[in-house]
Amino acid sequence: MRHASPAGGAPDGPAPASRALPPPRLVAWETTRACNLACRHCRAEASPEALPGELDQAEGLSLVRQIASWNPPPILILSGGEPLMRRDVFTLAALARDLGVPAVLSTNGTLLDREACGRIRAAGIRRLSLSLDGPDAGSHDAFRGLPGAFASLVAAAELLRSEGIPFQINSTVTPGNIAKLEDTLAAARGLGALAFHAFLLVPVGRAREWDEPFPAPEDYEGALLRLKALEPGMGMEFKATCAPQYQRIGRETGRPSPRAGRGCLGGQGFMFVGHDGACAACGYLPVPAGNLRERGIAEIYETSPLFLALRDRSRYRGRCASCEYWAVCGGCRARAHAEGDCLGGEPLCPHVPAALAASPAGPGGTAAGPAPGGPRAAGDAR
Ligand code: SF4
Ligand code: SF4
Repeated sequence: MRHASPAGGAPDGPAPASRALPPPRLVAWETTRACNLACRHCRAEASPEALPGELDQAEGLSLVRQIASWNPPPILILSGGEPLMRRDVFTLAALARDLGVPAVLSTNGTLLDREACGRIRAAGIRRLSLSLDGPDAGSHDAFRGLPGAFASLVAAAELLRSEGIPFQINSTVTPGNIAKLEDTLAAARGLGALAFHAFLLVPVGRAREWDEPFPAPEDYEGALLRLKALEPGMGMEFKATCAPQYQRIGRETGRPSPRAGRGCLGGQGFMFVGHDGACAACGYLPVPAGNLRERGIAEIYETSPLFLALRDRSRYRGRCASCEYWAVCGGCRARAHAEGDCLGGEPLCPHVPAALAASPAGPGGTAAGPAPGGPRAAGDAR
């Protein structure tokens, strides 16, 4: 059995030959790291200016063509940074439209005006996502690092509604807003969002430095149970994103989500393209899978050692490896990586897999064992 490197880097070993795989369902492209905000949780640690090495327009158009060659083509998420700070974003989106690639755009909303809405429609962008991280100006502005960010978001939502452009609200669940989830959800509904996606915080980028203690796994479990109870009456599409254990909770409560897919899609239906062409399983997992400047996107998706490892249960360690919900959940590989082993257990999940509970060593034992030489104490089966 091959193992990930003890430091949690890219799993080693040669890549086997390419095999036919279904195309990914989603590709997120960090079109730029430039952003006009400085949010507390920013994975990209975005800055006011684009970083050197960003894929240029010709490289971006080539990427769109490569994505279009998958059948069916995945949804392309134009992300950032702030994608509206990339001058050619509508040229790139228009090519996606022409080639039949459904494109959506993830924005902080502060740069939207009527002209931008016209260009969004003309480029065939199907949906926007706006980020709301608290139910009111006090909480949202503090999180986003900009007084007036909440007012801007409300204005953006009103503008999109008046322009008939569908949008969803993305909300990161943090130590500061976990108690206000219901109010944030109500605020999203009040803004006229089509969908509400709750993201469990991943400690990467600026989120590595957080001045409040992180909630315990049991607190996150409680928040996800609250969301599960609210789901039928939400009046919007709902998705718990980067909360793979929500799939377990759906099954344990007898209420699986209507749009159920696997919990963690990283490398298994989803991939991320960084601003410089570096590909990863997702934007929160800083383990390299290959660079578009060296290999095609389909080759990376199909043969990267990282992606092959993520798809192979026998390569996992810790609780997730032994878990009866691995196939539908899988645990967050990025949070596991932040703990030292991207194939280890999900730190925010309190579930004790049946196989471990029944093992002679008890719940503290581990069928697959913690990562050898990893940072955890012996017997810690996370
Ligand atoms: S690794 Fe974590 S952050 Fe990345 S897609 Fe999976 S659940 Fe989401
Ligand atoms: S132990 Fe891992 S696979 Fe099992 S429910 Fe928790 S996060 Fe998911």
